Amino acid sequence: MPMLSQEVRQKFSSIVGPERLKTSPEDLLTYAYDAYVLEYLPEAVLFPKTAAEVRQIMKVACAHKIFVTPRGAGSGLGAGSLAKRGGIILCFTMMNQILEINTANRYAVVEPGVVISEFQKELEKLNLFYPPDPGSATVATMGGAVLMNAGGMRGVKYGVTRDYLLGLEIVLPSGEIMNTGSLTAKDVTGYDLTRLICGSEGTLALVTKIIVRLLPKPKSKRTLQAIYDRIDDAGDTVAKIVEAGIVPATLELMDKMIIKALEDFAHLGLPLDAEAVLLIDVDGDLETVEKQAALVADFCKSQGARDVRVSQSEKDNEQLWMARRSAFGAVARLRPTCVIEDATVPVSFLTRAIKKVIEISERNRVQIAVLAHAGDGNLHPLILCDQRDAQEMQRVEKAMDEIVDYALSVGGTLSGEHGIGIAKAKYLPKQLSGAALEMMRAIKKAFDPQGILNPGSFLEYEK
Ligand SMILES: Cc1cc2nc3c(=O)[nH]c(=O)nc-3n(C[C@H](O)[C@H](O)[C@H](O)COP(=O)(O)OP(=O)(O)OC[C@H]3O[C@@H](n4cnc5c(N)ncnc54)[C@H](O)[C@@H]3O)c2cc1C
Repeated sequence: MPMLSQEVRQKFSSIVGPERLKTSPEDLLTYAYDAYVLEYLPEAVLFPKTAAEVRQIMKVACAHKIFVTPRGAGSGLGAGSLAKRGGIILCFTMMNQILEINTANRYAVVEPGVVISEFQKELEKLNLFYPPDPGSATVATMGGAVLMNAGGMRGVKYGVTRDYLLGLEIVLPSGEIMNTGSLTAKDVTGYDLTRLICGSEGTLALVTKIIVRLLPKPKSKRTLQAIYDRIDDAGDTVAKIVEAGIVPATLELMDKMIIKALEDFAHLGLPLDAEAVLLIDVDGDLETVEKQAALVADFCKSQGARDVRVSQSEKDNEQLWMARRSAFGAVARLRPTCVIEDATVPVSFLTRAIKKVIEISERNRVQIAVLAHAGDGNLHPLILCDQRDAQEMQRVEKAMDEIVDYALSVGGTLSGEHGIGIAKAKYLPKQLSGAALEMMRAIKKAFDPQGILNPGSFLEYEK
């Protein structure tokens, strides 16, 4: 593929204007990273404001065979938004308008650059609720969340981004604008292209508009902290809550390394001598919430929790969840590099999976803190290391291989929510058959015959 010529730069500049075309070395370096550990320098970064601009950019990219990598906030954990083979980055953060909140039909239409938590705050004013809630919600964009099918803390009760998507406006790599889905809650017209794009990690099309369904805001919420002397008891509690048919809104697990890092960072009064804490939300109408909170508290105690604290106010709730959201940041301060794993197991295997991670950590002499969207069986082992130490990184890689192998051996998956990117591309053949991979490559070719969109991503990554 050619480098960006002066002629092509000129064409891009005439579409977005010089202000929204960045080419200085310091700007390019800013967009050379996401939340993974690699660096790839783009040749230019463009900030479109309309689908029409995206369309014109793609026409130029097609004519000159320029690689294009879409990007939201760059909080992805697998280098998905990096220009792995050079070319330009299309950054959607300036397409950040909430276009419609329709209370009568309970849907909203947003541009891809809208930040998730800001959208949620606007909805709250109208007593509406958009549940997907990744830990990165204060920075991550709705577009990034759609393309990663982001999950988060409320997945156990409310599911993931895909469960709220009604339709999309997309720009194909050829520059053609296309709509998928509709404004209705039900729609079975043809193949479900909306869901095909969702989770496609920016490899099939550029999303320029998103229609999501909304729920009424739950009237009330309680947050519980269940404190355990044994991490096994915490893991078993989660599996048994799910088995008993109790449906909390969130069910998060933190091990002692996370508890200590959070205490050092946020001073919340978490117990430093505990092996694990479960953070549990129940929500709904007031009466149900009170009953459920009592039920969950009793349940946790009967499963070995030494103490269960129920937050007394909305402010306490917020503080606890802010702390949970800060967990990555708090732990990442401990070593120069933090690699976030995302292997997921059926929830009845949760305790065994946590013990396996601890055993893998000790055997490979790799420091691993365990965080989990536990109700979904979604482990987030945080591997603390130093990427400048080649020997240590070999041990990290071996530990990751073993975690993945374990998850797959019990019917789990490589990734519950962070996606594949290039971080996990080498593992794909362990989970997907040759036929499944071929089918995916055929889909990619149908959308992007020239292979200009997000090249070097999971299907074509070579180390
Ligand atoms: C501290 C932390 C906590 C996190 N917690 C969670 C969590 O709880 N749950 C979870 O699921 N994830 C989590 N993540 C991962 C990440 O934040 C999510 O995947 C998020 O949805 C990415 O959004 P983004 O705007 O940053 O997208 P980016 O990282 O910029 O992009 C993600 C992918 O989408 C593509 N893309 C972006 N916008 C478009 C568009 N408009 N059109 C086409 N392609 C596009 C990019 O090419 C890339 O492949 C976390 C990350 C961090 C750093």
